[in-house]
Amino acid sequence: MDNSSMVHLLEREGYIRSERVKRAFLMVDRAQFVPDENKSMAYFDEPLPIGHAQTISAPSMVAIMLELLNIEDGNKILEIGTGSGYNACLMACMGANVISIERIPALCDFAKKNVEKCACRERIKIMLGDGSVGYKKEAPYDRIIVTCGAPDIPPPLLEQLKDGGIMVIPLGGTFFQELYVVKKERDKILKRRWGDVAFVPLIGRYGHRWA
Ligand code: SAM
Repeated sequence: MDNSSMVHLLEREGYIRSERVKRAFLMVDRAQFVPDENKSMAYFDEPLPIGHAQTISAPSMVAIMLELLNIEDGNKILEIGTGSGYNACLMACMGANVISIERIPALCDFAKKNVEKCACRERIKIMLGDGSVGYKKEAPYDRIIVTCGAPDIPPPLLEQLKDGGIMVIPLGGTFFQELYVVKKERDKILKRRWGDVAFVPLIGRYGHRWA
């Protein structure tokens, strides 16, 4: 199994639906974002540990979220939960400018190192911090993607989403959530449920509190 066979499988199974998402998945090799001890499983459709009790999401989940996000050329995207940097690279290779926030310093460094190998690295800015408060300085954003489970939509993220913008976010408990597509249209908020998912929790001011 290699990266391109993984991509073709994701396409055959209906997770990858658009050329834009497919092209990015072919450009970005998932193995480069997986720690050495798990490299042999890099092309399995499974979440994998990246240290610090965190994971790189299953490629099918990443594809589902990117298709729902409906990225267009030049979109400014805020990602909460950089993790390995894989999803940030995919979005940059889809033509977006990405600001990604990670709360764990060691993962922030891991992602920065991984992203250096990406052909689209110049369109990615990775920052350490609590992403539940967003990043007001660069707002508003065309798209916001939250790759960890939030108890509810963090109000600063809604404020920082552009009118006409799209947010994809898992909402629920610390283990299981429902994935939502949130659209902001003339200050009306439209929420559409996609289905059940399982993400690590969003920890922060507008996230879960670590007990
Ligand atoms: N998108 C990542 C990738 O491509 O590898 C996977 C993300 S992993 C499932 C979720 C990440 O969210 C973890 O690295 C975790 O530390 C991070 N996280 C949790 N709460 C956060 C917060 N308040 N701000 C920023 N990152 C947070």
